[in-house]
Order: sequence, then C-alpha cells, then structure tokens
Amino acid sequence: MGNKLVEGLSAMTSSSLEVAPDILMLQFTIVNACIVGKPKTGDSEWVLVDTGLENSADFILQAVEKRFGKNSSPQAIILTHGHFDHVGSVIKLANLWDVPVYAHELEMPYITGKKDYPVGDPAVSSGMVAKMSPTFPHTSIDVGYRAVALPADGSVPGMTGWKWIHTPGHTEGHVCLFREKDHVLLAADAFTTVKQESLMSVLTQSEQISGPPAYLTIDWQAAEASVKHLRELQPSLVIPSHGQPMQGEELENHLDLLVRNFDEMAVPEQGRFVDRQ
Ligand SMILES: [Zn+2]
Ligand SMILES: [Zn+2]
Repeated sequence: MGNKLVEGLSAMTSSSLEVAPDILMLQFTIVNACIVGKPKTGDSEWVLVDTGLENSADFILQAVEKRFGKNSSPQAIILTHGHFDHVGSVIKLANLWDVPVYAHELEMPYITGKKDYPVGDPAVSSGMVAKMSPTFPHTSIDVGYRAVALPADGSVPGMTGWKWIHTPGHTEGHVCLFREKDHVLLAADAFTTVKQESLMSVLTQSEQISGPPAYLTIDWQAAEASVKHLRELQPSLVIPSHGQPMQGEELENHLDLLVRNFDEMAVPEQGRFVDRQ
C-alpha cells in the first residue's frame, strides 16, 4: 500500500525549476533530482544527479530533450546515495544512455546487489510518511558493471568545478556536491527543507529546515557531523533532495539553527538507530 501511495504521489505532479543557469531541478513531489549543464550544450556536456522514482524516467527524458535536444545523453549519472527514491530510474536510463553511474565507494554494495539497507523505521515519528516507511523498497539495486566509485581526488565526472563531499550518517556513503566558485550545494539527504516524515508537509512543501529523513537514517552522530561540515562550507544556495531550494540569509539562519539544535530538530525521540543514553 505504501508503495502505491508513493507511486500515486509521484505521478501526481512532476515539474522542473531552473535554480541556476546550468542547474535544472526536477521535482517528483516527494523527491528531487538535478540536471547540471548549460542548455543547448552538446552531447555528454551535462550530468544527471539522482534519478527520482521508478516511474520518473519519462519525465526526465522529456526535460532532457527540451534542454539539450533530441537523443542527447549525459556524460554520467551521479548518485548521492542508493535509496529507492534516488535510484528509481537509474537502471533504465543508464542502459538507454550507455553511461557510467558514479557513487561513493561505501555506497557501491547498495547499487551492485551486494547489500540491502535496513527497512524504514516507523518509530521515529507519528508522521504518515514515517509510518509508511517500512513498505518502501530497501533492497539493493544492481547497476552491474556501470557502477563506478567517485574519483578519490574529490572531483565529479562531468561537473567541472564541483567537488563531492562525503557526508555519512543518512547512509554510509552519502555524498553532497559542492561548487566552490559560487558555493552552490546539492545537499541530497544530509538535511532537508521540509519535514519529510509528515505527509502533509511533503504535499504542501511547507518550508522548514530539518535533519535527514529520519526513518532511513542509520547514524545520527555522523549525520550531525555532516551537517556541521556543510555549514562550515558556507553554502549560498542549497538544493535539497526533499523540499525547496533555499538561499542567502534565510539559508544561513536556518542552517545555523539546525547545527545549534540538531538533537531537538533532527534526532527522533526514539527509533532503532537512536541512542539517547
Ligand atoms: Zn535517502
Ligand atoms: Zn531521499
């Protein structure tokens, strides 16, 4: 039932939003993905960061055609981590485009069929999405030989000027992507700008900075350290995987608030991965 609901939600509205001249955010109701690359540039001059849900491929392909022309394919697909709402269309698209799929080394077992994530933990919140979370797909996908570990030097294939930043906590090999020139941050699930556990907040996208989606987060100490690390980078514009982009003073204030009150704002009262001793 949970998956049906997720599918229904994602089919409801898909939209795109240009957040920078070379960043198109794709919104699939409950999760975002990004196309990074200037419009009308040639083949292989752009990348796709995350791939939405299982039924997101058609919308992604439409957006690609509109932005880069017919039959354009990216240089690579970059995965911030392997959760189902980020890898939903990756196998279909990677096969179609015949491109490598990059992820952090520690995330590789989860995208090559070797290791499953724990099931979602409904105890973390009374919110509807948290309650549904045990029914979310948690088993490893397998992109096979196309899976490649992100380069050790911190560079991101196909994304000149960007660095990947290891931000564990939500998953072992979770990464964010950061551009030093203008401090744009693709935050993935390190933190969100919507209370992802609550269906009402997800539907209305009511803006509120929050920790990583709690029902899937496995290490809260690491998650806190990751948010602190991101704050130190002083991002100017954040595009999270859940919620709306946030920038400037609003972002600075909200992120400060989250860093200072991480326990109260992000860590659940209870849950399998919560250690409150
Ligand atoms: Zn996630
Ligand atoms: Zn997510």
